[in-house]
Amino acid sequence: MSQPVTHAPDNCLFCKIAAGQIPSRKVYEDDEIFAFHDIHPWAPVHFLMIPKVHIASMAQAGAEHAALLGRMMVLAPQLALAQGCNPYPAGGFRIVTNTGAEGGQEVHHLHIHVMGGPRPWLKG
Ligand code: 5GP
Ligand code: ZN
Repeated sequence: MSQPVTHAPDNCLFCKIAAGQIPSRKVYEDDEIFAFHDIHPWAPVHFLMIPKVHIASMAQAGAEHAALLGRMMVLAPQLALAQGCNPYPAGGFRIVTNTGAEGGQEVHHLHIHVMGGPRPWLKG
């Protein structure tokens, strides 16, 4: 099992986005969480939620991250509605966290994709 990685590598794209060093279209920010629109959206609404602390993937999430990840999951539906997703049950949204190479993860800073809006979507 890999070691937890919570320190920020110098070259982490999403650490830089969270710090404002690389521009993004911000959806939400608080002390612990940053959310921004995906640069290549699959759906009419497609944003990413990240912890500001560097966690490489869900495979490195530990008990110390449980409250933070819980906050992200509870916040996701509120942001989804605010970004234009239609209400449940006719509307809704999809939450995806790709993890590792076989899970399709490209950026190794834990992130939650939140996708929604009327079908069809480009993917997913
Ligand atoms: P993954 O494949 O790791 O789950 O998803 C990474 C996501 O980050 C992709 O959907 C990709 O479009 C998005 N992405 C990659 N680089 C950037 C960037 O510089 N800015 C933004 N806003 N999104 C990015
Ligand atoms: Zn990072």
